[in-house]
Amino acid sequence: MAGMIEEAFLRDMERNGLRVTRPYSFKSYTLDKDQAASADPSAHPVTVELVKGSVSQDGTHQGAVTTVKTKYLVGCDGGRSAVRTYGEKHHGITMAGDLLSTLWGAGDFVVKTDFPDIRKIAAIHSANQGSAYVFPRENNVDNQPMIRLYTQVNVINGEKSTMHPQEARWKVTAQDIMDADKRIFHPYKLEFVKTEWWSAYPIGQRLISQYDVENRVFMAGDACHTHSPKAGQGMNTALIDAHNLSFKMNMVLRGLAHPDLLKTYNDERWKIGKQLIDFDEEYAALFSGEVPKSTPEVANMTKEEVKKHFIEVQRR
Ligand SMILES: Cc1cc2nc3c(=O)[nH]c(=O)nc-3n(C[C@H](O)[C@H](O)[C@H](O)COP(=O)(O)OP(=O)(O)OC[C@H]3O[C@@H](n4cnc5c(N)ncnc54)[C@H](O)[C@@H]3O)c2cc1C
Repeated sequence: MAGMIEEAFLRDMERNGLRVTRPYSFKSYTLDKDQAASADPSAHPVTVELVKGSVSQDGTHQGAVTTVKTKYLVGCDGGRSAVRTYGEKHHGITMAGDLLSTLWGAGDFVVKTDFPDIRKIAAIHSANQGSAYVFPRENNVDNQPMIRLYTQVNVINGEKSTMHPQEARWKVTAQDIMDADKRIFHPYKLEFVKTEWWSAYPIGQRLISQYDVENRVFMAGDACHTHSPKAGQGMNTALIDAHNLSFKMNMVLRGLAHPDLLKTYNDERWKIGKQLIDFDEEYAALFSGEVPKSTPEVANMTKEEVKKHFIEVQRR
């Protein structure tokens, strides 16, 4: 979905004569602290190294390095943000949080089923085979209706896999996800006609310690907050992060506001990130049949009470 929305933005920009190109990858940055603190509009305190082409996870690359001096650097480079990672190693940034011991699969499928709510948003908590979440989607290119399925893949017959989700994510196959769905949907039948896309991801909630470094390097979106996709909040929050930052930066760069205005970005958006992470910790744990850390009293609830509580949290 996020990809489709990004495409819509890109098409609209093209209609208006602008094209996004991505010839470089981020490598590193250094900050001149004195210049960073100055309100001088001509200061370029950030020196960024960019690499033509891509940089691998261990920092190696084939392409040539280009150095640019800039007033500001914005890391909106996703959950594995290289700008954030560099900040973690060299500029005191931390990413707090942990991973739940739950592995989920996500996939877009065309299915045949007698499950009556397949064209509705539906949460299925099976007795002992894990949970699934159904989202009806648009038709595929062959005009067949697709569904998005989020599937808990590490529970079989009530037994949780002992493999760490980070390791298991690379071993899970589309077939594993489909098999898990069949077990969760039982006694309804589920036949997979086509797999359009799939992925596997461990659930974790992590939040960056601050959204900026010296009010000159900023991070936004998944670079700052990573969580489960269940509540559909990641892209929404990323867009508002970006909007909050860009209107302020526009005012500062045009000389209409003092650079201190940019400090309010961290003040305003970190709180929202924290809210999102706290909510997701509770929601994702309940979804996976676990007891949320924030509400340990769930452990003492009856099945009926947990069900009611889950619906209340979902409404929230
Ligand atoms: C299965 C799934 C379903 C989801 N469903 C929803 C939903 O329904 N609603 C919702 O709001 N959110 C949803 N999300 C979350 C949403 O996709 C993300 O929160 C959102 O895409 C974050 O946007 P972003 O711009 O921060 O990061 P990304 O979309 O990850 O974009 C990062 C960009 O940075 C680029 N990049 C990365 N590294 C570098 C580098 N070193 N140099 C240069 N460029 C780099 C990448 O190529 C990419 O273009 C879902 C996520 C998943 C996985």
